[in-house]
Amino acid sequence: MRDVDAVVVGSGPNGLVAAVTLAEAGWRVLVLEAASQAGGGLRTEELTLPGFRHDVCASVHPLAIASPAFRGLGLEREGLRLAHPAVPLGHPLSPGRSVYLHRDVAATAAGLGRDGAAWARVVGGLGRRWERLVAGVLDPLALPPRAPLETIAFGAAGVWPTTAVNRFALREEPAQALLAGLAAHATLDLGQPMTTGIGLLLGALGHGVGWPVAVGGSQSIADALVARLRSLGGEVVTGERVTSVDRLPSARAVLLDLTPRQVLAVAGERFRARYRGRLERWRYGSGVFKVDWALDGPVPWADPGLAGAGTVHLVGTAPEAVAAERAVARGRHPRRPYVLVVQATAADPSRAPSGKHTLWAYCHVPHGSTVDMTTPIEEQIERFAPGFRDRVLARHVMGPAAMEAHNANEVGGDIAGGSSDWRQLAARPVLSLAPWATPDPSVFLCSSSTLPGGGVHGMCGYNAARTVLKRLG
Ligand SMILES: Cc1cc2nc3c(=O)[nH]c(=O)nc-3n(C[C@H](O)[C@H](O)[C@H](O)COP(=O)(O)OP(=O)(O)OC[C@H]3O[C@@H](n4cnc5c(N)ncnc54)[C@H](O)[C@@H]3O)c2cc1C
Repeated sequence: MRDVDAVVVGSGPNGLVAAVTLAEAGWRVLVLEAASQAGGGLRTEELTLPGFRHDVCASVHPLAIASPAFRGLGLEREGLRLAHPAVPLGHPLSPGRSVYLHRDVAATAAGLGRDGAAWARVVGGLGRRWERLVAGVLDPLALPPRAPLETIAFGAAGVWPTTAVNRFALREEPAQALLAGLAAHATLDLGQPMTTGIGLLLGALGHGVGWPVAVGGSQSIADALVARLRSLGGEVVTGERVTSVDRLPSARAVLLDLTPRQVLAVAGERFRARYRGRLERWRYGSGVFKVDWALDGPVPWADPGLAGAGTVHLVGTAPEAVAAERAVARGRHPRRPYVLVVQATAADPSRAPSGKHTLWAYCHVPHGSTVDMTTPIEEQIERFAPGFRDRVLARHVMGPAAMEAHNANEVGGDIAGGSSDWRQLAARPVLSLAPWATPDPSVFLCSSSTLPGGGVHGMCGYNAARTVLKRLG
């Protein structure tokens, strides 16, 4: 493709959503992707053994299913199917004893003792209004504000550190652990402001839309986006690492699905010193250490109820979660880490040969860590599922360096395109009413380093494309 209207650099969910949004507006779009496969954080590969399909990065999709950007695309017309596990989330407190996030608010509240009523009121209430909640939270700069009441209610509760909510608002261990496990998705010290917001959003979406996986693997989401783009005349070229925007085909707009460090490398000379300085000061967050297993059978959980949970948070009690995440934030490797486990085959048996299973897990580690966390992760699983190691047929391990080699956006193993602490939650990557635009009128940013941040929701790409259309369309 020679003369195009827009070039998108990077084919993660945000890059692809941006490309489709522009193509739907009649623009001719070219996507250039460094890897041999499109999808960025949505890739699925046979990492362990033939027939076992593992999500290399993202696996669970409450954000995608709820996101206005994805809902508007109707990707089921491209063959995308999502599968729900029997229970979105399980969290063992001790071997054999667990707390659950069910789709049903009353069933969840029933497991939370004296905190059940508060959970039903706050998290259940937000879950009932999930459509308005995501409109406000995932599109915070929309004018007029899309859902002011829900956003204020969410902000009033979400702004607090999880440790404070656990101390002053919740009374018993099950709800405290459930909230801490949800909030720990933020990859932050749980004593930080706004960590409760991440927990509330994920909990509310568990009630409102569930936590599904994509049938066949997250790659199916990328494949559906690519199919839609091609049907609109767009093109995706893989194996094409962009080193400078000056060497791209001529276009009215260039959209970079890249984090600030790579943006500076490919387009830095296009920007004023002040803007460059702000990108240079961008802070990346802690990293992840990931293990995928091919299993001979299901995980032998001490609590058999966990077999039906798509996601399992392994850490134990809330104080254990707080200690594990605090250690990582301070540059240490916890002996008992917070381990996020996904049993994709609980919802989608097509991921493994008949009777076999895949298992996906990661724990947080300090940025750029080189420590092998395979043993601490497997020990956490053994703690709640004795005999787990006997089921392992093969394992595949990725530390921060391997994550970054797989996808250059995962700098130092950071999976969110930069720390999501309170300072970088609003100034993403700079404090602006149009953070997707840059000082160069033809260069735009569309990655998760822009608002509203990490996760597969496509809203960074959607808003970047809308900014392009508003300014150049
Ligand atoms: C281990 C892990 C687990 C996760 N789990 C979940 C989950 O369960 N649910 C969820 O919602 N989110 C999850 N996430 C987060 C989610 O994957 C990301 O937030 C999301 O993929 C970000 O999308 P993006 O489009 O901004 O960037 P990316 O998906 O990172 O895509 C960027 C793309 O740009 C390409 N690229 C980089 N540099 C260049 C260059 N110079 N030239 C050309 N191409 C380039 C990369 O190869 C990549 O394909 C997870 C992430 C990881 C790593």
